[in-house]
Amino acid sequence: MCNACNTFLDKLIDRGLLIETGVDGLYGRSGAFEDVIARFDALITRFGGGDGAEIIRFPPGMNRALFEKSGYLKSFPNLAGTIHAFSGNDAAHARLVERLAAGDDWTEDQRLTDVVLAPAACYPLYPVIAKRGPLPEGGRLVDLNSYCFRHEPSKDPARMQMFRMREYVRIGTPEQVTEFRALWLERAEQLIGKLALPYHLDVANDPFFGRAGRLLANNQRDQRLKFELLVPIESEEKPTACLSFNYHQDHFGTLWGIRTAADETAHTACVGFGMERVALALFKHHGLDVEAWPATVREALWG
Ligand code: AMP
Ligand code: ZN
Repeated sequence: MCNACNTFLDKLIDRGLLIETGVDGLYGRSGAFEDVIARFDALITRFGGGDGAEIIRFPPGMNRALFEKSGYLKSFPNLAGTIHAFSGNDAAHARLVERLAAGDDWTEDQRLTDVVLAPAACYPLYPVIAKRGPLPEGGRLVDLNSYCFRHEPSKDPARMQMFRMREYVRIGTPEQVTEFRALWLERAEQLIGKLALPYHLDVANDPFFGRAGRLLANNQRDQRLKFELLVPIESEEKPTACLSFNYHQDHFGTLWGIRTAADETAHTACVGFGMERVALALFKHHGLDVEAWPATVREALWG
């Protein structure tokens, strides 16, 4: 038993479920932790796998030019992660090594590459769908899962810098898309019910940056464009969003020029599952030993 374990994070690390790297929000995961994630992933598929979604897996890096066009930097410049690489000559290399050894800033010759880190699993998808031309009659439904990056270092284990997001994304007419979101709001309650987690659903907003961002956040709330399924993890007063249900209206359809079969601007929505957050919620509420979890929960995951 860990005597100095004051926080949930300490306990997770002491137990070996998460492995410290020296950076807040960046952890290794144990086999036991990964098994829970894999089982939860399979449970999601049991709920959504019958819908005929196209499965696509993108790497955690995305095309920088497309990311620049996506508008992410307008809304969340503080969260974005960009990948740089050395671009200098021999002399610049010698300078780098010298500065590194001296503990000085060595980044002078680091240049942006063509790759940035994906902030959400669905960001690389929209341009791909647009490129295919008009949507089929029934629109499209895509199943995604990716590591995502957000620069929000924190001691809260549920606020990671690198985490996985499983998503279903619906692209089609406003009716198709709103129906999809309503369906998943209903399914999510059944799904989390199977995991015996305390939760509530609430209207939410994204953390838009700056003063102008407050307006965007209010607008998103007023229009009820984002819902979250929240579970207390780090705090009872401020429960953690474990699932998100986003209706983007025609935002991405207009931006990327995605057209419906009837040649109207497509609407989009996505449901996002925070894989680590759900695993952490399970460890928080049912204990660090999965063998001791309630039989119904074990059945839902390993049954
Ligand atoms: P969002 O795009 O912010 O709605 O995020 C989608 C889902 O990803 C959320 O419902 C969370 O479960 C998860 N998520 C978002 N940010 C983080 C984070 N910093 N660490 C872990 N999971 C996160
Ligand atoms: Zn999404």
